[in-house]
Amino acid sequence: MREEHSVVAGVDMGATHIRFCLQNEEGTVLHCEKRRTAEVIAAGVQPGIVSLIQAQLQAFSARCHGLVMGFPALVGKDGRTIISTPNLPLKMDELRGLADRLEQDLGCPVTFTRDVNLQLSFDVQENALQDQQVLAAYLGTGMGFAIWLNGAPWTGAHGVAGELGHIPQGDMTLRCGCGNSGCLETVCSGVALQRWYLQQPRGYELGELFIHAAEEPFVQHLLQHAARAIATSINLFDPDAVILGGGVMDMPAFPRETLIALTGAHLRRPLPYQAVRFITASSSAFNGALGAATLARSRYLAQPAAALG
Ligand SMILES: [Zn+2]
Repeated sequence: MREEHSVVAGVDMGATHIRFCLQNEEGTVLHCEKRRTAEVIAAGVQPGIVSLIQAQLQAFSARCHGLVMGFPALVGKDGRTIISTPNLPLKMDELRGLADRLEQDLGCPVTFTRDVNLQLSFDVQENALQDQQVLAAYLGTGMGFAIWLNGAPWTGAHGVAGELGHIPQGDMTLRCGCGNSGCLETVCSGVALQRWYLQQPRGYELGELFIHAAEEPFVQHLLQHAARAIATSINLFDPDAVILGGGVMDMPAFPRETLIALTGAHLRRPLPYQAVRFITASSSAFNGALGAATLARSRYLAQPAAALG
């Protein structure tokens, strides 16, 4: 095989879809694709990801210099260990040593990271917020949350900071996917929304829930839970800006202004109430994969960039 291009790969591994991007040395995005997670990993995570990437490396006669892969999971400070994946249908057995095995098959370095930090990095760059203090709440399958402090995602002592979805402010009678009881995600997440939706026949699709059921008590409570959690984080961190996004907030008729008003009601006066800005996350579904590829490029092809947990 003739090797012409030097590229890096970014993979965003979601519960439903895997998104994958290839970027060249100049930062040009050569390829983006979205596949169903279940199909890609049918024969195993490692062979699935490897064949996904290698097919495109062949198509572009390219050599991969590095892969950054985002997971909706707790990822260790080492950037290689998947600690917990409550929202991903994977066996921990499959994830053990996965980074090493991918490096062997692909012949390039591999870094794992938490998907919300990739999304955060993308949104911070899009909005030129690099020098500010930023929080991001991504209400999707879970309640994703990420913190941008001093020019980089802040990941804590062990790489697991920012688990707003797992503060004990949910339904104490319900067990969360993480194993604890009463996490916020039991009442404030796409999973909770779907559970409520499936309780009885509804005359509309789940995706149109906010068009038809925004006034339902469960939905109102979900917004209030989200507002209280986001307000708590703002009162704790005093950020310049808060990015709001995620699959649930991207749904048609999501009452964004209501969420912001409910959040504002709990903010300390006069500050941060008067000063904090709310910014809509860019909703392109490829942000995570693009963020991963951009990070891979800065790490493995260009000048070293800020560390990402
Ligand atoms: Zn939990």
